Amino acid sequence: MKTRRLLAFLLVVTTLFASSCTTNDKNQAPKGPKNVIVLIGDGMGPAQVYALLLTSQEKTAFERFPYSGFSITKSASNEITDSAAGGSAIANGTKTNNGVVGMDPDSIPVPSMLEIFAEQGKKTGVVVTCSVTHATPADFIAHNITRKDNEGIALEISEKEGLNVLFGGGKKYFTERKDGVDLISKMWEKGWNIYDSLPQIEDNNARTMVLACRKHLDAAPQRGDFLPKATAKAIEMLDNENGFFLMVEGSQIDFAGHANDSTTLVEEMIDFNNTLNVVLDYAEKDGNTLVVVTADHETGGLSIIDPDGKYTRTDFNFSTGSHSAVFVPVFSYGPGAERFSGIMDNTEIISKIMEIAK
Ligand code: MG
Ligand code: ZN
Repeated sequence: MKTRRLLAFLLVVTTLFASSCTTNDKNQAPKGPKNVIVLIGDGMGPAQVYALLLTSQEKTAFERFPYSGFSITKSASNEITDSAAGGSAIANGTKTNNGVVGMDPDSIPVPSMLEIFAEQGKKTGVVVTCSVTHATPADFIAHNITRKDNEGIALEISEKEGLNVLFGGGKKYFTERKDGVDLISKMWEKGWNIYDSLPQIEDNNARTMVLACRKHLDAAPQRGDFLPKATAKAIEMLDNENGFFLMVEGSQIDFAGHANDSTTLVEEMIDFNNTLNVVLDYAEKDGNTLVVVTADHETGGLSIIDPDGKYTRTDFNFSTGSHSAVFVPVFSYGPGAERFSGIMDNTEIISKIMEIAK
């Protein structure tokens, strides 16, 4: 008798528990994040992040992320990817050949996450420290069989719908063109506001492009705090009730790697770290923003070594002037961030983001 009563009790409890779970699931169905911010450290492998840790007095922004993983970066054509194919896989989820921007290996354009979010009614933006026509930003806003076609990519940008904010360099590809067309005048006519610097921006609601240099911006620290400032301004301009998508690139971590210049590399990592802090401060306050940080590939084959076997010195050692094939890190924060742990292909980043943001 006692046993039967206990069983009945357990049955009731189990039923209650089960039904309360179901109700809870219905009431608290996970809602996707309103905003998505993707940051790409071009050429930023694990050693680049570690170089920042070693030289930083304070806790880095990277250590603020609750989840991290590894991304596989090889392209459709090569074990070692270039920035065009590496960024393209992140932007649209399709492996392509080195040199190709926003297209598959058969030269068919593939929509990027920026374009998909724009289609869904979100505001969108891109912030970089290179020319806005360079491979990584182009992967999100253009489709071209070759990254070398800067003027063609500028033309595509000038005709682009669904892009609200674009900050970087590369003015010459808009104004000193072989076809003689002044794309900047054409874009003003279409409703864009275009400036040389961030403080000139007057209307936060207008589609706005800032081209701060003829080509790329200066290296850190000479260019000052352009990247963190431009990122803060972009967030301020994009923030709206339907949400936004923003891609921010630490473009010149890669340049310092190619040059095997460890001093500039650390300065570029400090600048990218400052930018991450701006983004995380916003995301923490907002509570409904997914932040994903990754890289397209590693540059320089950087290792941090004990040069004399005595553990008394630490040297930065570059093994190539090109890219290398190593895992690159993925860091994530915000709703759904836990999905970015473990080893993933670079093509999975967009599918994870899209599933979460649904
Ligand atoms: Mg790049
Ligand atoms: Zn590179």
